Amino acid sequence: MPAAALSPQVLAKYEPVIGLEVHVQLLTATKAFCGCANQFGSAPNTNICPVCLGLPGALPVLNEKAVEFATLAALALGCEVRERSIFARKNYFYPDLPKGYQISQFDKPIAEHGFIEVPTANGAPSDRSSSLGCSDGVMKRIGITRLHMEEDAGKSLHEGFADSATRTYIDLNRCGTPLIEIVSEPDIRTADEAFEYLTRLKEILLYTGVSDCNMEEGSLRCDANVSVRLKGADKFGTKAEVKNVNSFRFVRAALEYEIERQIEVLESGGRVIQESRTWNAAEGRTYSMRSKEQAHDYRYFPEPDLPPLIVSAEFLADTAKKLPELPEARRARMIAEYELNAQDAATLTASREFADRFEAAARTARNPRRVANVLLSEVGGRLKALGLEQEQSPVSMAGIVQAADLLDEAKISSKQLKQLFDVCFENGEDFPAVYDREKPEQITDASALEALIDQVIAANPKQVEHYRGGKKTVAGFFVGQVMKATKGQANPALLNELVVKKLEG
Ligand code: ADP
Ligand code: ZN
Ligand code: MG
Repeated sequence: MPAAALSPQVLAKYEPVIGLEVHVQLLTATKAFCGCANQFGSAPNTNICPVCLGLPGALPVLNEKAVEFATLAALALGCEVRERSIFARKNYFYPDLPKGYQISQFDKPIAEHGFIEVPTANGAPSDRSSSLGCSDGVMKRIGITRLHMEEDAGKSLHEGFADSATRTYIDLNRCGTPLIEIVSEPDIRTADEAFEYLTRLKEILLYTGVSDCNMEEGSLRCDANVSVRLKGADKFGTKAEVKNVNSFRFVRAALEYEIERQIEVLESGGRVIQESRTWNAAEGRTYSMRSKEQAHDYRYFPEPDLPPLIVSAEFLADTAKKLPELPEARRARMIAEYELNAQDAATLTASREFADRFEAAARTARNPRRVANVLLSEVGGRLKALGLEQEQSPVSMAGIVQAADLLDEAKISSKQLKQLFDVCFENGEDFPAVYDREKPEQITDASALEALIDQVIAANPKQVEHYRGGKKTVAGFFVGQVMKATKGQANPALLNELVVKKLEG
């Protein structure tokens, strides 16, 4: 942490300004400009050819799938897609960049002017670990300046520590992997908003299927730009850029650290320098990497080996048809359709695949809402208690539907349902198997139930009086008492009916 903790009064004088640059690898079968496999984890330097190595005379050919994915992502992020965009060379030397330049886009990117909505501070969740459940809060729009296409460079693998490496190995498999870079406006004001933006960005991209967004494998990488200024100032302060932080939690922590560091610099009469910094997770602080005082000069110029990229109206329309229902819209619809709260909607839509499976199953059930209910309370609750993921659940979607239907038809009571689920989780068995074996007994004999109801009525004259005085909800008390007496085995529908009949009689 910064040397001296800053008082809340000092912190409150400043406003952080944050803009994020996110690189995302596209899930195409082949690379952006050649036929080499776009595959993580191959043996080093096996997926390479003259084109991605930039050997003399080799010419790039644009991968149409990469354009489709970039367009799909752009549409999902509310961007305007440019009909005619231009590839440009970004020139710099680096050992893992044999061409000496990256093909990128510069002043005419494929898409611009998008946005992502995030909850603002007052609408934000108190539980910071789960961020998507608060769509009932106040939402704020974070602008996306641009989304452009480019190719990735290779990878340097350092032996020993990066700053005192004894050897560095070069793997060029990644050269020419198609990327999109998504640059936000400097609209973000807190580390939490940055976390929300990234979480939602990743979720949207996963829904579109353009990337696996696997941060450990480098499919999604984030550079965070941050500055601070006195509240009310109209000019932004000098920014520092925290490079390549490999988890969203670390981005948030790095930003929190960096905001305090910059305020401290300013408070002690210093000046923030424009530079790149790295996040050291073990120490919980950022370190200066290299000064960025002078504007770097990449000597961009239009790529002479590629024609302008034309996204026709027809291509755009075809791509738009491939756009799935996006997470925020889906949550809103599911909240209404299944009568969920925001948190539960977030759980059910955590991945598109899971939400699809849930909805496909729910549609086959007598009462889809009950499927949501059983899934969230019975299965979700038990998984959470055991620290298990949804995929590790012994109960299948079909099992949940069967349970929900049995409950809906009053063939089992909710108490029996709980007991059956307990068995499922104890034995690691699916619901249908457990139900077939245990077939819980139900008391459907009306006279036996009536006898029990009579006993409960006789023992609770006060409650009977309340009921007859108009407090109809007291019926629930009698149902509960008889259920208890039968250890949950009374047929609930029949019991309800009989209780009312007796009380009215
Ligand atoms: P650079 O030329 O250094 O890459 P850009 O203008 O391209 O800077 O902006 C890169 C990112 O930094 C964008 O996400 C942008 O919103 C953000 N950004 C720009 N200026 C500031 C600032 N003063 N403070 C915080 N973020 C900023
Ligand atoms: Zn190649
Ligand atoms: Mg930039």
